[in-house]
Amino acid sequence: MKFETKAIRLQHKRTQEQEHSTPIFPTSSFVFDDAQQMAAIFAGEQEGNIYSRFSNPNLKELEQKMASLEGVERAVVTASGMAAVFSSIMAFLSAGEHIIASRALFGSSISIFNNWLPKWGIYCTWVDPNNIEDWEKEILSTTKMIFVETPSNPGLDIIDLEKVGALAKKHDLLFVVDNCFATPYLQQPARFGADIITHSATKFIDGQGRVLGGIVCGNNELMDAVYRFGRNTGPSLSPFNAWILSKSLETLAVRMDRHCANALTLAKALQDHPAISKVNYPFLESHPAHAIAKRQMKQGGGVVTFELKGGLSAGQNFLNRLNLISLSTNLGDTRTIATHPASTSHAKVNKEDCLAVGITDGLIRVSVGLEHVDDLLEDIQQALD
Ligand SMILES: *Cc1c(COP(=O)(O)O)cnc(C)c1O
Repeated sequence: MKFETKAIRLQHKRTQEQEHSTPIFPTSSFVFDDAQQMAAIFAGEQEGNIYSRFSNPNLKELEQKMASLEGVERAVVTASGMAAVFSSIMAFLSAGEHIIASRALFGSSISIFNNWLPKWGIYCTWVDPNNIEDWEKEILSTTKMIFVETPSNPGLDIIDLEKVGALAKKHDLLFVVDNCFATPYLQQPARFGADIITHSATKFIDGQGRVLGGIVCGNNELMDAVYRFGRNTGPSLSPFNAWILSKSLETLAVRMDRHCANALTLAKALQDHPAISKVNYPFLESHPAHAIAKRQMKQGGGVVTFELKGGLSAGQNFLNRLNLISLSTNLGDTRTIATHPASTSHAKVNKEDCLAVGITDGLIRVSVGLEHVDDLLEDIQQALD
């Protein structure tokens, strides 16, 4: 089956009610026919659900669908994208081990590496996403993992997955890719050698700004470790959220096509505006990694950023003058959302660190939604004017 068909047709088996759409299974535990069956399921000798922190039909449907869409053996769902990121690190690293991470990561991922992992003796070396040639010399005898995000949030840096995949293979390192911005519809990192793929399902996978969720994908052996970590520590996704996310995947392909088409139209239209010094979008020819993006992504994604010439005050003025577009921190919603990282998410980060990940004072991030693009352009243009 093709991507779109799998996203719709991979479904939990029907109950005797013959429902067409999968029901929600809001149950914390499951019952057994007899003590022998209970013992066999607990021992893993027989398939079956025990407790919803371990498994649940809604979680299983989402996991099987996502594994299939990413082209890997297995997926494990979590309560949020950060739980997915944290599980994919903690399931594999021990005190004394080392990670190489692209500097262009989501803010909370940076905090995990800088503020939490050192408490357990796990250290990270930050590397430049645009200079993979320099990464090899940072590899230590204790290095166990390479962690990247592409396209990155919010800088839209593009990492050459094939190159990093080859480096990871050469040194026998686990290669983790946060694939949140692209979704498996636009980019399947396993094809380029990624061992572990993480998602914030909160973003384009939900696609309608309703629930939090996370997903980790990879081969059976690696995902068994992620599963066991979550089974004991408890970052479990609720059956309701899993149901929402699985239903959302049914429309992922059509939504992403429109997100990307709207984003490209906006990016092109804003390039020549006198108030804007630079527009960033992976599928614009002016993007420094345009060729790499074209090679590994089907389309450019749903996020566009641009830099206002007037800096900090221009950024805030711009947001205040938007009428239709929402000021909010989420992304991947049907509703277009604008943020000004320098005065919000990165207000406390020092300037040098901001610039290293592409956040200038006048940078605006737009998560382009599914409204008619003419209405979006009109709102942005009147605010700029
Ligand atoms: C939002 C986001 C996360 C975190 O996901 P949550 O669902 O908010 O926990 C991780 N990585 C990227 C790239 C994100 O955009």
